[in-house]
Amino acid sequence: MSHALGNHILVEFMGCDPHVMNDVASIERDMVGAAQKAGATVINSTFHHFSPYGVSGVVVIQESHLAIHTWPEYGYAAVDLFTCGEMDAWISFDFLKECFGAKNYSALEMKRGSVNLLTRNDFDISTMRQKASERSNPEMYTRNVWFTDKDESQALSLRFTGEVFYDVQSPFQRVRILESYKYGMMLALDDMVMTTIKDEFHYHEMISHPAMFTHGNAKNILVIGGGDGGTVREILRHEHVEKVTMVEIDGEVIKACKAFLPTIAAAFDNPKLDLKVDDGIAFIKDAAPNSYDLIIVDGSDPVGPAEGLFSVSFYTNCFNALKEGGILIAQGESPKFNEKAFSELNHTLQEIFGENNAPVSLFYVPTYPTGMWSFQYGLKGSAHPKSVSKVEEIEKFVATQGLRYYNSDIHVGSFATPNFVKTLLKK
Ligand code: SAM
Repeated sequence: MSHALGNHILVEFMGCDPHVMNDVASIERDMVGAAQKAGATVINSTFHHFSPYGVSGVVVIQESHLAIHTWPEYGYAAVDLFTCGEMDAWISFDFLKECFGAKNYSALEMKRGSVNLLTRNDFDISTMRQKASERSNPEMYTRNVWFTDKDESQALSLRFTGEVFYDVQSPFQRVRILESYKYGMMLALDDMVMTTIKDEFHYHEMISHPAMFTHGNAKNILVIGGGDGGTVREILRHEHVEKVTMVEIDGEVIKACKAFLPTIAAAFDNPKLDLKVDDGIAFIKDAAPNSYDLIIVDGSDPVGPAEGLFSVSFYTNCFNALKEGGILIAQGESPKFNEKAFSELNHTLQEIFGENNAPVSLFYVPTYPTGMWSFQYGLKGSAHPKSVSKVEEIEKFVATQGLRYYNSDIHVGSFATPNFVKTLLKK
């Protein structure tokens, strides 16, 4: 009979893979696995991703708790294995050493709560035991795992189920499909939320329909990026479209979305779609002049493969590839998150298309940091989205297509910019 109430193993795991040390989903999965491997009953798991990096979390078990905090920059994890009863926490220790690929470690075991030093209180234990007995299915436990999209001073966190449905490191980025409690299945590239089942229509309706109704008869359209398929789905709702060429750099994104986000990736088999897996920057450089009615740049944030999608040379090539009267629409970042990229992009578009030909449309995406996002336009002709007066035609289209964000008021309203944004856009 042990004379201590608990057993505490303090572990230092060193020489671990920094990426693993920064991965909230796999650390949560491994910590829960470590508890279950040692036969523990898991009650709850709560894990957070920290800014700029690092993970902290605890797995509460019927036999006490397992806790961790990581320093990816040192490949280091501090782990606490606190147990009571017969559970052998060294089994959890061995499991985690494997999972984290620790090249070396130290572990200190100490007994906690020596009964010789404690005085037992006499109280009616039956009432206290009430809660615990309800926990009939040990598999069922609450998971609090948070996915965080952030910059150095601002973040958006989404609680997700902890399940990872797709996780591939492609040559360009890490492609993951996760399931969030509030917004359902979601695509994340590196640590950025790209799209979710529950709010994707905000983005995909606003990147496509305002420009389609402004142009009025777009037939040949180029989409750069857009690997989730939502933009081409919306574009192809317009019957007058004859051809859509989509150039997505990362085939893994298309594969993941076809498999796990089918309602977004719904138009990939449309005969009007010419889907190319290629770098959009190289593609537009070689594009024939005056080819497209619309060019839509549905790219990710200005890092990694998408950095060049914010350059002067890229937009100059887009201008040349547009027909007279053509319209460019670009994912424009947020005036409240990445302000610099937001205003610099518009200054570039003003430079190339003309000061009054680079309007900005603002809209809301709850799962993007700050929720306030933009599309930025380049107009190679006189058609201006603000002067569209096709209320009946738009409302008929909205009704027949069952759109949930876009309508004739939003069309005009989204181009109304607050004063602080006007200031940011001033060259
Ligand atoms: N809604 C998202 C956003 O606002 O960040 C964008 C969604 S979409 C998934 C972005 C796509 O752009 C990704 O699939 C990414 O692989 C693709 N992409 C990034 N750089 C690219 C490039 N140079 N050429 C073509 N596609 C690119």
